[in-house]
Amino acid sequence: MKINISQVKREIGRKESFSFVCSARDVGLLEEQGWLDATIYVDGEVVNTGRLLEIAGIIRAKQVRFVCNRCLEEYSSSLEVPFSEEFQAMTLETNEEDNDFSCYQGDEIDITELVRESLLLAEPLKALCREDCKGLCLHCGTNLNLTSCSCLERIVDPRLAVLQQFVKKTEP
Ligand SMILES: [Zn+2]
Ligand SMILES: [Zn+2]
Repeated sequence: MKINISQVKREIGRKESFSFVCSARDVGLLEEQGWLDATIYVDGEVVNTGRLLEIAGIIRAKQVRFVCNRCLEEYSSSLEVPFSEEFQAMTLETNEEDNDFSCYQGDEIDITELVRESLLLAEPLKALCREDCKGLCLHCGTNLNLTSCSCLERIVDPRLAVLQQFVKKTEP
């Protein structure tokens, strides 16, 4: 995923857009679970601000598989992740580690690593197959999205049990 900057780096204020389509494998997400069928679309712009080249855009990943935190089922979903990074021409004095920007050399900037990291950071911490996922029954493990179980009817609050006894006794 290399952006050609041979023109944009020569002219302050110049903008150029770019777009890529690739598989998760192409950005090195092969090992990570859930990315096998994913397609990744990257659209963005590189801007010459004078001192730096700013690269910003949006990554859309489709068909990413997640495991739902509540019902533990796998489901496919999309991710949209904005990204941005500043690049400075590599010179003898530039020290990448001391700054919050990256460096470039020559006529190309490779954003593969930037895309990979943005996607990994963006994975939702609370993955839910749907907002109202009912999850698993705490007692029997039934997936309550698919079917219901009778645990709730059988397990009666002890305080209610006393009441039930009482009701029985008073029944004629
Ligand atoms: Zn779920
Ligand atoms: Zn149950």
